[in-house]
Amino acid sequence: MKKSLFPKFISILLLICASGWIGYAFYTRNVHYRETRFLFDTEVYIEAHGWEAKQAGLQVLDRMGDLDAKLNKFKAGSELDKINQAAGQQPVEVSDLTFEVIAQSLQIAETTGGAFDPTVGPLMALWGFGSQEKQTVPSNKEISEYLKLVGYQKVILDQANKTVYLTRKGMMLDLGAIAKGYAVDQAVQILKEHNISSALVSAGGNIYTIGRRTNGSPWQIGIRDPASKEKIVGYIQLENQAIDTSGDYERFFWANGKKYSHIIDPRTGYPAQGVSGCTVIMPQAAQADAFATAAFVLGVDKGLDLIEEDNSPGVMIDSQGQMVLSSKMKELLIK
Ligand code: AMP
Ligand code: MG
Repeated sequence: MKKSLFPKFISILLLICASGWIGYAFYTRNVHYRETRFLFDTEVYIEAHGWEAKQAGLQVLDRMGDLDAKLNKFKAGSELDKINQAAGQQPVEVSDLTFEVIAQSLQIAETTGGAFDPTVGPLMALWGFGSQEKQTVPSNKEISEYLKLVGYQKVILDQANKTVYLTRKGMMLDLGAIAKGYAVDQAVQILKEHNISSALVSAGGNIYTIGRRTNGSPWQIGIRDPASKEKIVGYIQLENQAIDTSGDYERFFWANGKKYSHIIDPRTGYPAQGVSGCTVIMPQAAQADAFATAAFVLGVDKGLDLIEEDNSPGVMIDSQGQMVLSSKMKELLIK
């Protein structure tokens, strides 16, 4: 009697454990995590699906919050602020993440011939962007004085000691054209570490999608018409890629009948003219972020050349609303 009861008890116990495990597995496989936060002075959105979606999502938001705190030049005591305050005086030791994003930004500055340049900080301040001051057109004299404080070659990085040195007093790093993209890349890395196979991360215009939506259909991303908030010029299906747009429609002012936007041409010291919107698709979000800004600065023709050289899909829309597509984008854009 004793002998036959024991195995029965074991098998019931095993059955309970197995069904519990299956139930748990089913539950976790179907975890859907969605969250919106205000970071980097913009809306950040994350949507992740899968076994560890919640843990991954929370970790992503932590990392993005941390990066915002480190890379914001307006936050007193942030790592970027410390670098800027020590300009012309001494190198500043920073965290690995801050060092990495600055190193990446200097590399892209080189690749884009300085059209993207993270040292535009002084010019941003001179034009009154990002501050409470009134935005006005500076004099040519002021612009040429400030231009002396701009130039990615004037930044010294020390890889071994993880220090950043701005060699002239008054220099100021501004990572506004790459930090959001970099944060999205970090998010993607965390999501992948948690084996998330379906997700979308967005920080401002920087978007990356992992895999497809949970119903198997591709993620569809609209490209905004610079002339109208409600309209798109088309959309694309994005899978394991980053897309980013730089535009003249969010931060700008008018003076003497001319529109001045927040993207500055580091070669002239004036806001870039001629382009209204520029969108690029690339494997990494930091790269897409910086390249969209660089192509915006270069103008439609040279901007498109830069995108073509990289063999990337890109769209440029000029101030008259004329749209030009790179050859890769012609295959992708659905109108
Ligand atoms: P985005 O919207 O990505 O094109 O970034 C624009 C922001 O990047 C501006 O608000 C500035 O903070 C900064 N910025 C402006 N002009 C440049 C430039 N030529 N290169 C790098 N960053 C820039
Ligand atoms: Mg950018």
